[in-house]
Amino acid sequence: MSEIEFLHQIRPIWLNRITLNLAKASGIRQNVRDQMEDFFDRLEQFLETGDTSWLDPILKSWSEAQTQSDLESGQSDLIPFVESIMLTTHDICREILDPTTANDLMGALLPAFGYAFQTISRFETLAKIDYISNQLDEVRQTLEKLDRSKSDFIAVAAHELKTPLTLIEGYSSMLRDALSNKQFTQEESDLLDGISMGSKRLRSIIDDMIDVSMIDNNLLQLSFQPIWVNRLFAVLETEFQPIIQTRQLTLTLQPFPGSNEMTFGDPERLLQVFRNVLSNAIKFTPDGGRIMVNGRKLPGFLEVIISDSGIGIAPDDQMIIFDKFGRIGNSALHSSSKTKFKGGGPGLGLHIARGIVQSHGGEIWVESPGYDEVTCPGSTFHILIPVHTHPPDDKTAKLFTALQNPT
Ligand code: ADP
Repeated sequence: MSEIEFLHQIRPIWLNRITLNLAKASGIRQNVRDQMEDFFDRLEQFLETGDTSWLDPILKSWSEAQTQSDLESGQSDLIPFVESIMLTTHDICREILDPTTANDLMGALLPAFGYAFQTISRFETLAKIDYISNQLDEVRQTLEKLDRSKSDFIAVAAHELKTPLTLIEGYSSMLRDALSNKQFTQEESDLLDGISMGSKRLRSIIDDMIDVSMIDNNLLQLSFQPIWVNRLFAVLETEFQPIIQTRQLTLTLQPFPGSNEMTFGDPERLLQVFRNVLSNAIKFTPDGGRIMVNGRKLPGFLEVIISDSGIGIAPDDQMIIFDKFGRIGNSALHSSSKTKFKGGGPGLGLHIARGIVQSHGGEIWVESPGYDEVTCPGSTFHILIPVHTHPPDDKTAKLFTALQNPT
């Protein structure tokens, strides 16, 4: 008798035993029996042709029937299932057939079971990859939604805050005007200065919030004009002079190749970038420290390098600080100041700086050996700005041709 005939011989017992083993509840027994019959038919086809791919359709349908919780658990139920079919087949062969025939039949069936294990693992892995990538997709969509609602909130909050702030500014200047003939005492003058300083700070935070929402929604518009990097820093040197003196800091503006050459950029926005980075350098450098502005000319770019002898930034935080609200450390410990040592802000300055630099087609990044308030390893910010010796867009080109050739 051939192996196929022996296989045929064990079929009735095999079907009954396997069905009973696999389906303890009678309700699902018929379904399991149908599946097992199909599987057995395919085993016979395999023995006849030697082609394992006869098993593919049923193995595939078993893998696809895996439930969400099977995939979540990460454990395979199918491998033990096929294993139990194989062991029951082996037991039945030994019971019904003589030992040699049983061995021969199991030997002939082994490639089919080996193939079943391999194929199921492959299908299961693919199903898991599919499941994980769907999950990642869902997480990505949730994060995008969250980021959008954060941006929307910032835009709405900024516009809502602007109106009452304008009222405070207006009334405080009216108060000053109304009392202009009065000789203020020191205390009264301090009180009025306090209101005006507070509202200025609030306006700058609101402006930052509006800039963030423009950057996040790709609405930032640049107004290209000729600029000279050294002149922008000269403006900032004057602006920061009082605080540099108070904090006994040394600010060195090192002339570097290209710093005195004309390029096209948005002067107000680039001033904002350099101001944000410089004010951070001032904030995070202890009194008596050094801040240096240097740079170099690269093909097609100017690299501005702003380094300080401050507290430095831990490697893990060096990417985070460019995110929205990317301030690090305990926010409760921050004082709220633009220039005081370790004075905290809302964590928008570097996010805005990156948005402006990237809108120019450049990049900004930081290097620092780490964070240490005792040894002060310092931080170095690199700002790469593309050099445009000609107007970079049609609108600017038209404007400058008109200015250069007045009629
Ligand atoms: P903030 O409004 O807090 O200054 P920024 O976006 O300008 O927000 O900076 C984010 C965070 O990056 C800061 O809170 C600070 O922790 C860190 N940081 C930025 N510049 C420096 C620097 N030069 N030295 C050390 N830490 C810095």
